[in-house]
Amino acid sequence: MTDIDKYKTLATPCFIFDEAEFTRSATLFGDALKSNFKRSIIGYSVKTNSLPYILKKALDLGCYAEVVSHDEYNLARLVGFPIEKIIYNGPMKSKETFLEAITGNAIVNIETKRELEWLKELPSDGDYGIGIRLNIDINAISPDDTKKENDFSRFGFSDATSEFADALQAISKVDNVKLKCLHIHRMSGTRSVAYYKHLVDYACSIIKKYNLSVDMIDIGGGYFGIFRNAPTYKDYSDAFKESITKNFPNRDFTVIVEPGTAVVASSMSYLSTVIDTKILPGCRIVVTDGTRNDVDPLFTKTDYIKEILSQGNAPVSDCPQIICGSSCIERDHLFTLNGYNNLLVGDMIRYKNVGSYTMCLSPNFINYLPRIYVEEDNGQYRLIRDKWTNKEYTQKSVW
Ligand SMILES: *Cc1c(COP(=O)(O)O)cnc(C)c1O
Repeated sequence: MTDIDKYKTLATPCFIFDEAEFTRSATLFGDALKSNFKRSIIGYSVKTNSLPYILKKALDLGCYAEVVSHDEYNLARLVGFPIEKIIYNGPMKSKETFLEAITGNAIVNIETKRELEWLKELPSDGDYGIGIRLNIDINAISPDDTKKENDFSRFGFSDATSEFADALQAISKVDNVKLKCLHIHRMSGTRSVAYYKHLVDYACSIIKKYNLSVDMIDIGGGYFGIFRNAPTYKDYSDAFKESITKNFPNRDFTVIVEPGTAVVASSMSYLSTVIDTKILPGCRIVVTDGTRNDVDPLFTKTDYIKEILSQGNAPVSDCPQIICGSSCIERDHLFTLNGYNNLLVGDMIRYKNVGSYTMCLSPNFINYLPRIYVEEDNGQYRLIRDKWTNKEYTQKSVW
C-alpha cells in the first residue's frame, strides 16, 4: 500500500486526530509533574482546541478542563467534566456560572473587578476557596524572553500598581472566602525553561510579600510540545521544582499547568486533495480542496510541516508551484514548492501539527466546517465530526 492509499477512504478536506499522540503527550506531562510534586493538575486549555472528542479524551486521561468563558464552562460540563475538575479563568465568566463553580469546588481564578463584587453573593453557610490572576510583565521578570519593549499584558491584577493589593483587600473582606490559588499564566514567545523559572520565582516573591495563604500555584500554558531540540516536560517541571523549593523549602503547593498547544498541536493533521492546476507566466498554481482558513485562520504562517502524497512520478516542475486553497480569497496560498515534481489532480497534501488554534478559529466562510476523523488502533478511520451543512449553518436563523 502506498502512502496515498492509506487515505483514499477519507472525504477531503478533513482533519485527522491522532489519539495515541495526544495520550502520549498528556501522559508524559502528567508523569513529569508527578515525579516532582505530591499534588499536580493538568488543566487542558479548552480554547486551544475545543473539539468535544478531544475534551472527553482529556477527561478520560485525568485532566481538568481549563475554560475561559461561560460558554466553554458549559461545554466542559456537557462533555462530562464534574465542576470540581474545571479551572475557570478569563474575563467572560457569567455571574451564575461563577457562583456555581465556586460552590461546586472548581478552581476559579478571578480576573475582573465585577467578580470581586460577586463573591459577596456566595451562600453564607459555606466556606469557599478562590484564586486570583496576577499580572505578569515579562520585561520586568525575564527580559531575555520578550522581543518587545513595554510588552505588557492586559490580564490579571498588577502588583506594579495598587490593584493586586486592592483585590487582596477586597477578598479578605469576604468572611467565608479564602485565597487558595495564584494564577500566573503568561505566554512568552521563547517558551524557555528559564522564563518559567523566573515566572515561578515572581509568584513566590508575591506569596512572600503578602504572606498569602495559597496552596496552589497555577503556572498556566505556553509550553513546547514534544520536539527534538526543545525543552522537555521534565525540564519545565524541574524548573518549577527548583524555584518552589528554593523559595519555600518547607511548604507544599499543588502545581497546576494549563497546556493547550503543547499537547494538542501535534495530534492533529489536515488532509486535502489537488482539484486543479493552472499555468501562469513563471509559476504553476495548484488548487486544493482544503483552505488556509482551516490550518492558518489568522493568516500568519508561511510554511508547514507537511507530507506530499503523489500518485506517481510526474516530471520536476520548471517553475515554482504555488499551493492554493479552495476559498475565493486571493491570499488563500498555503505554501510554495520549488524544484519539486509537478503535483497532479488527485495528489494529496497532509499538513501536520495543526491542532492548536485552528479548527476552533476556522470560519464558516465559503465552505462549512470540514469532517474530522480519528485513526483507530486497527488503522481504520472513524468520523468524529461530520461536515457541517446548511442544516447546522442555518440553525437559529430565520428567513
Ligand atoms: C490560552 C491559555 C492557555 C493555553 O495556552 P497554550 O499556549 O495553548 O499552551 C492556558 N491558560 C490560559 C489562561 C490561557 O488563556
